[in-house]
Amino acid sequence: MDSIGTFGASRYAIRDLQLLRDADTPAVTRLLAGCAVLRVTRGNRVEGLHARLLIVLAGALGIEAEGFVGDSGLTRILPGESVGEQAVLDEAANLESIVALEDSEVLVIEPELVWQLIEQHNGVARNLLRLLSFRIRAANALLRRRQKLGEFYRQLSMNDGLTGLYNRAWLNDMLPKLVGRARQDGMPLSLVMIDLDHFKRFNDTHGHMIGDHALVTAAGVIRAGLRPADFAVRYGGEEMMAILPHTALSAAVLVAERLCARLRESVVFDDMRLPLPHLTGSFGVASLDSHQDERSLVADADAALYRAKQAGRDRICT
Ligand code: GH3
Ligand code: MG
Ligand code: MG
Repeated sequence: MDSIGTFGASRYAIRDLQLLRDADTPAVTRLLAGCAVLRVTRGNRVEGLHARLLIVLAGALGIEAEGFVGDSGLTRILPGESVGEQAVLDEAANLESIVALEDSEVLVIEPELVWQLIEQHNGVARNLLRLLSFRIRAANALLRRRQKLGEFYRQLSMNDGLTGLYNRAWLNDMLPKLVGRARQDGMPLSLVMIDLDHFKRFNDTHGHMIGDHALVTAAGVIRAGLRPADFAVRYGGEEMMAILPHTALSAAVLVAERLCARLRESVVFDDMRLPLPHLTGSFGVASLDSHQDERSLVADADAALYRAKQAGRDRICT
């Protein structure tokens, strides 16, 4: 970073500077004449110039927003454009780091001079306000994009890719919370553990892809059979779980019976050129005891499911 003279002695014109557009008066020319022009070689950082307004005269600067690396966090400042207005206005240190993307020439304006320009020339104040407003809009748009992206990835990490039900990671996070809440509120909570019957045979007979489709169908039946306050989870392979807050054992059994009957009647393919057998499932139902934690509740539901398998499948056990 070398000083290569003053703006007054340079070949650049005021009308080419965005912020000073319409302020090309003899007074402004006088104010800027003594300001330093620096040369920054490509790849070098612009350092030690905090709380100063920088205007790119030639080349390009890049601003890396704090905490972001790579292109998504990089703003390009091209000839005529400026950086550092905010640091001058609020006297806070610039948190961003500035790097020359090309060999560049930069005009440096000291804070007192920026204030003088603002106070004496309405055009500069107007340009500055417009610029700041544009920056705020751009920052808001970026935030919204990041928020959407974050939401997208959050969903992706919480839901099972095949069935769309909540996945095991969600369960590990949420079940302890749901159990804690039920205990605290003194409300019942029930679990229904579901395992599709002879699903290995189904896969072996019809192929894995049709097996996948059957899983999606089964998940759809479960989801559609629950109330909005309930949760449907893919627990593992062909095992699913329904979590029923505010629901005692007797009501949970009714829910499980409804799911069991609907599963039995569900159609895996509408196109019945493929004569597919209907799906059935075995259901284990358990309710939270006052002294139980989530693990022992799941173990209870699992044990009940095992009994349903033993008793002949396509049924509910508690
Ligand atoms: P049971 O009635 O005793 O539950 O018999 P089962 O054959 O269902 O039990 P088992 O646990 O032995 O087999 C489960 C099968 O589920 C094995 C596997 O091929 C199948 N499976 C698990 N996950 C998937 C999946 O994502 N897609 C498909 N197509 N099949 C799956
Ligand atoms: Mg199984
Ligand atoms: Mg099974």
